[in-house]
Amino acid sequence: MLLLRRFLNALLLLLTLSSLVHAGSSAAQIYPIKFTVKPVAVVYSLRYAQINIAESHYALLAVQYSLLLAGFPYKIIDEQNLLHMDLSKYSCLIFPYARYLSRNISTSFLDALAECLKSGGSFICFGIPAYRRGNVSLYMDDWMRFYGRIFGLQSVSFRFGKDFTVLAEKHKITSDHLGDRIPLEDISYDYIILSSSSNASVLLRTNMGDILAVASRYGGGRAVLFTLSASDSLFQRTSIMLRSIQWCIFGDLTPVGLNLACGRVIWMLNIDADWSADRDATGNALAWLLRRSEKNCFTFSWAVITGNYSGLKKTIDWLSLRDLFNASLEAGVEFTSHTVHHPVWRNITSKERVMFELAQSYRDIAGNLTRISGLQVPDGMFPIEYYPLIRKAGYEYAIQTFAYPFLRMVGIQPLQNNSIFIFWRSTKSDYYYFDLMKYSPEEAFRIEKKNFDCFYALGHSAPYLLLWHDYSLINKTRRAVFLKVLRYEYADRVDVSSMTATEFIRRFEAWEKVKIRITYMPDLIKVRLDTHDVPEEYLQYLSCMCLRIDGKTISNVEFMNRSYPLFSDDYVILPELGHGRYEFKIKFGNPPSPHVIHLTTCRILSAELKDADILLNLSRLWDNNVRICLVGGSSLIVNGSKIKLEKSGGVSVGYLTFKAVEIPRVKVIEAYEYLKGFLIGLILAFLLVGLVLIRSRRGKNES
Ligand SMILES: [Zn+2]
Repeated sequence: MLLLRRFLNALLLLLTLSSLVHAGSSAAQIYPIKFTVKPVAVVYSLRYAQINIAESHYALLAVQYSLLLAGFPYKIIDEQNLLHMDLSKYSCLIFPYARYLSRNISTSFLDALAECLKSGGSFICFGIPAYRRGNVSLYMDDWMRFYGRIFGLQSVSFRFGKDFTVLAEKHKITSDHLGDRIPLEDISYDYIILSSSSNASVLLRTNMGDILAVASRYGGGRAVLFTLSASDSLFQRTSIMLRSIQWCIFGDLTPVGLNLACGRVIWMLNIDADWSADRDATGNALAWLLRRSEKNCFTFSWAVITGNYSGLKKTIDWLSLRDLFNASLEAGVEFTSHTVHHPVWRNITSKERVMFELAQSYRDIAGNLTRISGLQVPDGMFPIEYYPLIRKAGYEYAIQTFAYPFLRMVGIQPLQNNSIFIFWRSTKSDYYYFDLMKYSPEEAFRIEKKNFDCFYALGHSAPYLLLWHDYSLINKTRRAVFLKVLRYEYADRVDVSSMTATEFIRRFEAWEKVKIRITYMPDLIKVRLDTHDVPEEYLQYLSCMCLRIDGKTISNVEFMNRSYPLFSDDYVILPELGHGRYEFKIKFGNPPSPHVIHLTTCRILSAELKDADILLNLSRLWDNNVRICLVGGSSLIVNGSKIKLEKSGGVSVGYLTFKAVEIPRVKVIEAYEYLKGFLIGLILAFLLVGLVLIRSRRGKNES
């Protein structure tokens, strides 16, 4: 009897507990949860550029970089359109530099924004809107009242000083940085004072105790306020911007995003051929790198100078280099412009001269080699005010120098009647390491490695742009450092994709048109992609993009109700899709069967798992090689042939060449050959002098 009562008591307790657990999780989420991904609106105005051209550009591009990581399509909206746009069409409004907002953005817009929040929308504001009256800067009353409503903000104040640091407080947005003391480069900042009734969560606080960021739920929506601009270096050092976007859009749901390639990093190698006019030197460098790229399966861009530079009296020898250039094109190398004369921009004061450098080199390359779309900027930073000229000269994009600490900036810069795609480099170059700073090879590698590690840790297919020069590739010491960098960042990895800028932009153009719907279930996520709006010519670029599920481990994927073997722990690799609707069913847990965790970009025409074999049907998209990485299996059959696999840790790696490229022989010459020539000359001179001396001494003895 006692035993039975005990048993019943225990059963009752168990039932009560399980119902509590159930109530705890289901109160917040009732499955299935259907979620339609709406684009983000990034608010910008050309007027901002007139206030501060660099900061407004940096802020705009930093936000776009984070949106690419979050895998979220976006539109850049002119602030003038805010007053008459339908806010419900967007999942989140981002103000990269709210301080610059026009005073015309009135109470009526802010009321609409609050309503939008109530019905599930969201916004992220970087900065407190202010205006100038005489010499003083005043915060805008409308916005202060609005922030009062959303965050319980009482007032904003201002601090001036130095050696500020920032500490993250506990929140989903800051969870990657708990305990970190993040240095603040600014010598002054605005800070928030909250009213005692505020429900907002504090995200960031300085060592002075001042609040720099808050997050709040309002109605069904969410909002984040930073007092710092999106161009602040704090966002270049942390994942806080990415996590803010994810939290605003997904709240407590698992974030899902579409990234331009699978893996942690998109590795974009740029070469500036400063010695373009020296046929042997530049030819050797290109032939060497081309051979290397065929071996290690990566692609790169090669920027040529079409006029005189580097004290060379000659100009580029199109005829002698033609075979090598054609082989490079065949292999998937992208040629870009490095201008006509490699000008020092601050010495060029006329627009006409700038235009000549851009347009003439474009014409030279188009006339002698191939149609191009990119400019690799020489001599440090290309003046932002001249961006319209790049477009006018015929280019689609430019790769800017590095602007330390602003290394995460990629995206569209709107222009007066147009726009241009801008990439900022993510790291220092060989020129910086060896010529400017005169670092030792060990020191250069150490700095490069440390920087790359930050991007690798950031993950989410982060674009990583690095620059080397032709002259370094034919210098033994520097080439050794390059090879070390190549191995560390790309060749020895199983989760890094190589890409040129034009392929990146084509992917971007396809990416921004994909419509995504997500259905959340307790143990799986269904993702439906609608590709009807993707332009026909860019459809193939959807191949090898990935659907990233942040914070879950994928165990099993079905594509259109069939088992699908292309996925890693946190993403599913897209095959090539046509115009239509496609569904992925993604389950969580530990993956049991063989699956491909990474592929460098190519067209995936089909993928299936048959017994223990992975069968792929691939064809070429851009690069003529593909690297395939798989786990849990040892049999990979591509286009009907078994691929030889090499073990790398727990991963098997296979390589496939679509079309072998014959690399023409170039006269072997190394940078030290020049030195050798010089040394031989010197030795000969010594011998000659010696000979003359001996002769004259003999003559004396004889006399
Ligand atoms: Zn250069």
